[in-house]
Amino acid sequence: MEFIGAILDNGIWKMRKVNNNVFIIRSVKMAEPAEMYQCQTTNCGYIYNPDKGDRKGKISKGTKFEDLPEDWKCPICGASKKAFRPLG
Ligand SMILES: [Zn+2]
Repeated sequence: MEFIGAILDNGIWKMRKVNNNVFIIRSVKMAEPAEMYQCQTTNCGYIYNPDKGDRKGKISKGTKFEDLPEDWKCPICGASKKAFRPLG
């Protein structure tokens, strides 16, 4: 199921809900794809967007993926940074 999520500070986010987890598919206005990293584990697909940071992981907005702590984990599936690949 797809639906338009919240209208946030940097655009309209399209979301998908699977098993009570909400995934962001894309926004109308996005950060540069090369700055966004997607979790590659099966059934995840979480995208780290530096414009948003990761509230659950206490990562503030504007933090680049490369600057995330090495022990940072995917907020959806718990994968390490090594599971992520750039979108760009
Ligand atoms: Zn993940």
